[in-house]
Amino acid sequence: MDNKDRLLGEYIGDSDGKLFIVVAGIHGNEKTGLIALESIFEYLNEVQPSFSGKMIGLAGNLKAIANSARYVDTDFNRIWKRQIIDGIRNNGVGGHEFHEYDELKALLDEIDSIIDCKDPSNIVFIDLHNTSSAEGMFTFTFEGDDNYRIASALHIPIITGLDKALQGTAIQYMSERGFCSIAFEGGPLGVEKSISIHEAGVWLLLEATGCINRSEIPNYEQQKALMVASTENFPKISELIYVHNIEESDQFKMNQGYVNFQKIVEGEILGVDVNGDVRSPHAGYIMMPLYQTQGDEGFFITKLVS
Ligand SMILES: [Zn+2]
Repeated sequence: MDNKDRLLGEYIGDSDGKLFIVVAGIHGNEKTGLIALESIFEYLNEVQPSFSGKMIGLAGNLKAIANSARYVDTDFNRIWKRQIIDGIRNNGVGGHEFHEYDELKALLDEIDSIIDCKDPSNIVFIDLHNTSSAEGMFTFTFEGDDNYRIASALHIPIITGLDKALQGTAIQYMSERGFCSIAFEGGPLGVEKSISIHEAGVWLLLEATGCINRSEIPNYEQQKALMVASTENFPKISELIYVHNIEESDQFKMNQGYVNFQKIVEGEILGVDVNGDVRSPHAGYIMMPLYQTQGDEGFFITKLVS
């Protein structure tokens, strides 16, 4: 593993502004963000538009990306916990059992070398993902005006409460460091359109953070229209209220046909595991139903924020 492969691109603006860090491929099989960033950096470096601040693109789990797998030993987006990170920082990475700890250390080193002595409120951290179900993209962020304002530039549903229901995500750790932190679930795995969606979304986030003026964004109106059209009729802000955690021994299998933001009722049979039917403990909207073999969560449930 070579940390130089981690840097996907860099663009330094002609005036001061935010430090805009985007990570793609924290889950190695989610590649549309990597391709989208490549294309954005190509445009920026070729056209050299006026830009405030600096944009950096980083690849997440290098080995999992090479293997096109969600992860190698453990989910890389569930280990950004204070205790694990302190351990890695104090003891290096020798002797631990999970490959992802090496990736965590390397990615953190890279990020720390970029941000040194920057005011945290001037840093934006974006994490690009795909979901394994068809349709329905969304964004995760945390409470706070800047988070909401910037996330809403994506024109897709915002989900909050991640910190209460799911531990160890990269955005939560970055949010605790004081950065504006947003995860962008840009559509289904392995679908061409998800590349365009990730690309459009990152441009809109760059605009919302004041890094670039819309007049400098290629095909701005089309990019925005793509985002707006993709999520009509979905709730604007919802809160994560339940995560169905699973282990391999559960042999959980999601029932076919669920899509993001599908309404579910309490007690609805959503899947099956070794103990029989798995029923929904709450009414709400189903999110991220598991339709791939690797994953620590069977499904998520959100409810509307009134
Ligand atoms: Zn992911």
